[in-house]
Amino acid sequence: MRSLIHWDIRRGMAVLKAGLFRHLGSIALAALITSSLVAGDAAWADDTPAKQIFGKVQLPSNSAPSPIGFYAKGCMAGAVAIPTDGPTWQAMRLSRNRRWGNPAMIALLEQFSKDAVELGWGSGILIGDISQPRGGPMLTGHASHQIGLDADIWFTPKPAQPLSAQAREDMPFTSMLDKSKFLTVNASRWTPTHANVVMQAASYPQVERVFVNPAIKKKLCDTWTGDRSLLGKVRPVYGHDEHFHIRMHCPPGAAGCKAQAPVASGDGCDKSLAWWFTKEPWAKPKKDPNAKPVKPRFTTLSDLPKACAAVLAAPAVSEQSATFGTAYVAPQPGDAAIQAVINAGADDLPDSTIPIPMARPALQ
Ligand SMILES: [Zn+2]
Repeated sequence: MRSLIHWDIRRGMAVLKAGLFRHLGSIALAALITSSLVAGDAAWADDTPAKQIFGKVQLPSNSAPSPIGFYAKGCMAGAVAIPTDGPTWQAMRLSRNRRWGNPAMIALLEQFSKDAVELGWGSGILIGDISQPRGGPMLTGHASHQIGLDADIWFTPKPAQPLSAQAREDMPFTSMLDKSKFLTVNASRWTPTHANVVMQAASYPQVERVFVNPAIKKKLCDTWTGDRSLLGKVRPVYGHDEHFHIRMHCPPGAAGCKAQAPVASGDGCDKSLAWWFTKEPWAKPKKDPNAKPVKPRFTTLSDLPKACAAVLAAPAVSEQSATFGTAYVAPQPGDAAIQAVINAGADDLPDSTIPIPMARPALQ
């Protein structure tokens, strides 16, 4: 029998006692205390995958901005959306409703988009997924992007003309790899401007890591003549050949945000990069014959920081105040479309931040 958790005053107080004070600043806390006492109807089963809960939320919490937990295990209070259109950016795949982030991330993307234009990157950047309105695990596509401090940028510049909403759904990604060769950058697509744009992203002090395909990292290692120390922030991970991924540090004062171990010093053009070109990442993990079989299970709400339950229960901001600017488009699709994804049994793709190859190119 599945037991249901009903959000009520008692549970609200239990959560608060259980550690909310450790996780949130006083302003956010005040907002969440108020909200947790008035949001009375949220209910879900204990074993409901957290991605199904967070994947259905349409608007952010009306609370102070706060990244809670870790990039791949957390949630976000007080998100703002980047407008679908700006002078130097366009948001893509609007139906996913994943253009929400910590305000520091939104500000960074706006700055980066201007800097990219100055580097000759067309008329700006195309922005892929940031986070869901309250962060958390996603129904599809990423293991990280949970606390509003990760964003994907297409390796395709923004066209001069605004793309229609449909084109933003349908426009195919363009890989920077030569798919006929093993982990090799496509020399007819990759340009010095691509390198400049990635390194520009790495140059901001608030950026902690930039993820690119190992072939792209190698290309940068072989050709970059600028500040080599910045190359250390550019991290090789499979995938990331049609977009790159910007990860920010926890913002100053974000007490509930769990920092990632810093990258090693140096440019990272060493054996740690060479490893990605070996057979080892594809080797099947050795099984311990004595190990008990572990039943795979999805992350549930109780696996996340306790404050994430309060973030979910908090009242939403109004749609008008949910975003900067005037180009706000109401989130789509509604619950029905998301439910269809759940019903279809769609599962997470491998974590884009860990080395699980999806398909191995020919080795010969
Ligand atoms: Zn990403």
